[in-house]
Amino acid sequence: MAGTGKTTLIQRLNHFTSESCATAGSDGGATAGLRAYYVNMDPAVADVPFAASIDIRDTVDYKGVMTQYRLGPNGSIMTALNLFATKIHQVIDIIERRREELDVVFVDTPGQIEVFTWSASGQLITEAFAACFPTCIIFVADACRCANPQTFMSTMLYASSIMYKLQLPLLIAVNKTDVVKPTELFNWMRDPDSLSDAVRQQKGFAASLTESLSLFVHEFYQGIRTVAVSAITGEGIPDLFAALEAAQEQYATEFLPLLKARVAANEKREAAKQSKMIARLEKDMAAAAV
Ligand code: GDP
Ligand code: MG
Repeated sequence: MAGTGKTTLIQRLNHFTSESCATAGSDGGATAGLRAYYVNMDPAVADVPFAASIDIRDTVDYKGVMTQYRLGPNGSIMTALNLFATKIHQVIDIIERRREELDVVFVDTPGQIEVFTWSASGQLITEAFAACFPTCIIFVADACRCANPQTFMSTMLYASSIMYKLQLPLLIAVNKTDVVKPTELFNWMRDPDSLSDAVRQQKGFAASLTESLSLFVHEFYQGIRTVAVSAITGEGIPDLFAALEAAQEQYATEFLPLLKARVAANEKREAAKQSKMIARLEKDMAAAAV
C-alpha cells in the first residue's frame, strides 16, 4: 500500500546488492556478489532513489497523460501503466538478454495498490515476468499500521487477496521495524488465540469480524514467508534475500506447473476460438461463391 516503504526498501536493497558486489570484487570473488537489476514502474514518482536501469518515466510522461486525456492523478497512473504494458515484451527482452549476468531483478510498483494488482495491465505485466523468470511478490506491510489487531487483519486480507489474484509466491516484508518491533504481530500470526485475546479487548462489529477471520487468515500464513525489515536501518535485509531464495524454489515446484497448466488451457481455448472463426469464414466464403 502507498507509504509502506516499497521505494525506500528497493533503495536499501540496491545499497545491499552494490555492497555485496563490491565485497565480492575486493576479496577476489570469494564471496558471491549479488548482481541485481532495478526497474521503476511508478510513473508518478518525482525522484527514483535507486539505480533504475529501466524507468517507466522514460516511456510515458505521467503529467502529459493527465493533460492529454484530461485525467486525475489515479486515472493518469492507470493509463500510464496501460501504455507501458503494451511495451512489456521489450522490457522482458532486455532482461532476458542479461539473464546470465543477473541474479535478481527488483521491480518497484506504483503506490496505489489497486492500480497495479487489480488492473488488467498489472496482471499482464506480472504474468509476463512470471512466464519467463522465477517471480515472487514482496508485499510490504507497515509495522506501525499493523500494531492494532484490526488494521493488522485488513493488511493480511490485502496480502491474501493479492496472492490469490496473482497466484505467485508471496513474501510479506514487515517494514519500519526500527519504529515498531513486530513481536506482537508475529505472535498473532503464529497463534490465532492471541489475536482473539487482543481483539476481545475491543468492542464492536469490526472486532467480532476480526475474530471470525482470524482462523481463515491463520491458514493463509502457513503457506507464506514473513520477514521483519527496516528499509532505513537495513535490519533484516539478509533474511529477505534468504526468503527470496526459498520463494524461488516454491515458484519452481508449486507455482510453475499451475502457471503452465493455465497457459496451456488459454492456448487451447484460443485455438478452439480460432478454428471456430475459420470454419465460419469458410462457410461464409462457400455461401458467397454460390
Ligand atoms: P512507498 O509509497 O511504499 O514507495 O513508500 P516510500 O518508500 O516512499 O516511503 C514512505 C515513507 O516511509 C517515507 O517517508 C520513508 O522515509 C518512510 N520509510 C520507509 N521505510 C521506512 C523504515 O524502514 N523506517 C522508517 N522509520 N521509515 C520508513
Ligand atoms: Mg514508491
